[in-house]
Amino acid sequence: MATAAKGDYYNLLGVKRGVSTADVRKAYKRLARKFHPDVNPGDASAEERFKQIQEAHDVLSDAKKRKMYDQHGFYSDHFQPAAGAGGAGYGGFDFGGFDFSEVTPRGNSFRDIFSDFFTRFGGGGAAEGAPGPQRGSDLEYQVEIDFWEAIGGTVRKLTISRQEACAVCRGRGTSGGPAPCAACGGKGKVTQVAGPMRFNITCTQCGGVGRLRTICRHCNGEGRQPQAQKLEVRIPAGVSDGSRVRVAAKGNAGIYGGASGDLYIITQVRPHPFFERRGDDIYTVVPITVSEAALGARIEVPTIDGRALLKVPTGTQSGQRFRLREKGAASLRTGTRGDQYVEVRIVLPKVLDERQKEMLKDFARLTRDDPRAEIYDAAAH
Ligand SMILES: [Zn+2]
Ligand SMILES: [Zn+2]
Repeated sequence: MATAAKGDYYNLLGVKRGVSTADVRKAYKRLARKFHPDVNPGDASAEERFKQIQEAHDVLSDAKKRKMYDQHGFYSDHFQPAAGAGGAGYGGFDFGGFDFSEVTPRGNSFRDIFSDFFTRFGGGGAAEGAPGPQRGSDLEYQVEIDFWEAIGGTVRKLTISRQEACAVCRGRGTSGGPAPCAACGGKGKVTQVAGPMRFNITCTQCGGVGRLRTICRHCNGEGRQPQAQKLEVRIPAGVSDGSRVRVAAKGNAGIYGGASGDLYIITQVRPHPFFERRGDDIYTVVPITVSEAALGARIEVPTIDGRALLKVPTGTQSGQRFRLREKGAASLRTGTRGDQYVEVRIVLPKVLDERQKEMLKDFARLTRDDPRAEIYDAAAH
């Protein structure tokens, strides 16, 4: 049970005296992986070495303990000057093998340092290293659809990568029942020897509980793991470019029993050559002839429901815009439809034969208006 005479903590971790706490931790992790009893079953010397490097790390990674160690060449939880004036000196300090039963577990939870193998068996007391349920994060996927899919809705088969609850431990992160803590042999305390002194201190690995749960190796104790999942996602009618469609609970699984996050489908809508979508409204450009514009006409224009009649009034100018009520897209939120705007553009006929030319000349003679009169006036100074 007593730890053997040990070397210098710095030597044990293979670091220099001025080393940073981060590097202490790094060196410890590297060595702990190598000497952990779980990877060296039945190897007593590895186990001994493991205990020593744990102890070295425990002291050197804590600024206060390390200072004491640097000054005195050893560290003990029970050899600390009392705080404040008139204190009781060195409380609890003794030279014999003394069992201090009331020892507070300290920081450095095993899970933090070395989460791959074990976690504390959550006994009574402050359950450090035993975090509560956490909701899984949301996921976002972009899906490209065409204009008509956005108008009418669609179903897409997707393969997404999400964190799912581990199939082996079903999200618990642990496997099997609690096993005795290897560091203290299940006693919850370890004996430290510092020169002539021996101390029983609370095992830092199990927090004094003496038992540890085995971490699920399948998911490394996370309780979840990334998995490709095939989904059929219904994209509702009315989505537009950049819409977010929520698929409940298909985000990452939560950990330690937390709920799953949501999946958001972000729609990218490919533009249509004729219908231009702006919000729930649709914009179109429709050519009309000179005579339709001058004399007025009823023309057929394409809408998303098929053709609709548009009345072009007498004397319509090129670029004038007309509205077809509720011929736009259905609103994703309310279901009510937007409008379609029709901009007319006058196209000139191809004038080829002599009779057409004569008629246009006659028309010009009959039409005395100068279309540039207004701009001459406006431009004069
Ligand atoms: Zn698992
Ligand atoms: Zn222990």
